[in-house]
Amino acid sequence: MTETEKNVKLAVNGGIGFGSKLNAKQLVLLAEYLGDEELELTTFQQLYIQVAESEVDAITKKFNEVGLSVYPVGNYVKSLRHCNFCKGEEQEGMPVAKEINRRIAGKPVPFTLRPAYTGCPIGCGEPLVNDIGVLKVRNGYDLYIGGYAKGADARVGTLVKAQLQPEELYTLIDKILAVFTEHGKKREPFSRFVNRYGFDTLTAQVLD
Ligand code: SF4
Repeated sequence: MTETEKNVKLAVNGGIGFGSKLNAKQLVLLAEYLGDEELELTTFQQLYIQVAESEVDAITKKFNEVGLSVYPVGNYVKSLRHCNFCKGEEQEGMPVAKEINRRIAGKPVPFTLRPAYTGCPIGCGEPLVNDIGVLKVRNGYDLYIGGYAKGADARVGTLVKAQLQPEELYTLIDKILAVFTEHGKKREPFSRFVNRYGFDTLTAQVLD
């Protein structure tokens, strides 16, 4: 890295799985790239590291090889916050959570967007206080939007549709993100966008 080279922040985690776990191989590789920097643990199951801009692709590749997922930091969709899937991979819909994450994490949006998933109505992944929340209930998936966890403005999201099947769920999330990308103002939090644009207007646009 040259002295004038810009550093960029990357968000790293172990991907979607049982709990937010890291193994020894992953920790050793992270330590190798830390140098004198510190590792920042966020409330969204991500670790932030700073790397030279020119090294992003190579580091991402190396991290991926040991099972670490790497995401951009800033005005992007964050990786999916999730519960620990304590009742089992299939029963709690882990493949669906992985697919949601694959489709949306890292997408550019007007302001950082926090999606969350939880595998049963107990809701350990706190889906109702995040921008987009998915709650598995029996054999379907309930989709909420517009939740907000911070400060005195905290509020729970509103149900868009209950008992969705996976393909319907993916399509609906894609459509909601497309509306936000097109109509959201720069640095407008998604929950504020839902209020300004109108929950009914938004859902009328995305529900067939
Ligand atoms: S939300 Fe349900 S499945 Fe997920 S960790 Fe909590 S109790 Fe377990």
